[in-house]
Formats: sequence, C-alpha cells, structure tokens
Amino acid sequence: MQSLTQSLKAKKISYREGFLDLVWSDSSSHSFPLRWLREACACALCLERSPAQNLSQLSAEALGVRLRIQKIEAVGNYGMAVTWGDRHRSIFAFDRIRSEFEALELPEHLKRDFSSKVEEQRV
Ligand SMILES: [Zn+2]
Repeated sequence: MQSLTQSLKAKKISYREGFLDLVWSDSSSHSFPLRWLREACACALCLERSPAQNLSQLSAEALGVRLRIQKIEAVGNYGMAVTWGDRHRSIFAFDRIRSEFEALELPEHLKRDFSSKVEEQRV
C-alpha cells in the first residue's frame, strides 16, 4: 500500500478524448477524466465561481471547448500546468490530484483505462 503523502513524479503524461493519462514514477498509472480534472482546478478564479458557473451548467458546446486540452507543461517536478480549450490554465500538484482521485469511488476501468489513446505528449 502506497502512502498518499509520498511525493510521486510523473513519468509520462498524455491525453486523449475525455481523459488525461498519467504514468507515475513508480509505474502505476491513472486516467483522469478531463471533466473531473477541470472541476478540481484550485485556482482563485475557479474557487470563487458561483454554482451557476459549474461545468454541469454549461452547454454541450461550451463544455467541449472547455474540456479540450491545448497544452500540458511540467511545473517543477511536483505538478503540471494544463491549458484548456478556453485558455484557462490550471496548475495541479501531482500529490493532490492523485490522493483526491483515489478517494473517489469510480469503476476501476475509468481509473485505469489506457485502451484508446489518440494524442500523446511528453513532458
Ligand atoms: Zn481554475
């Protein structure tokens, strides 16, 4: 059992329709649903938004734009910066998203589905 407080680095980050796939330095991996990831953005703007501005309130078109990834950049070795389709930029600390995601009760195939990568990007 891995301690969640252990600092993990990302070995490889890639994204595809709907998911961001992350392979950790210990070779375990997660597939983060983009919708979850965007909701997990902890920037001041996102933390202050009203419930009416949540993703669930957006039209399918607006949602699609917001959930497209333009760019992923490394932030030191502790996190990544994701630039979304609407140019919003989210910085995620690996430790935080990993522990928050593992705390979710998602079907295993959603957490570990690596079957259909369409785009890849190394950081
Ligand atoms: Zn944000």
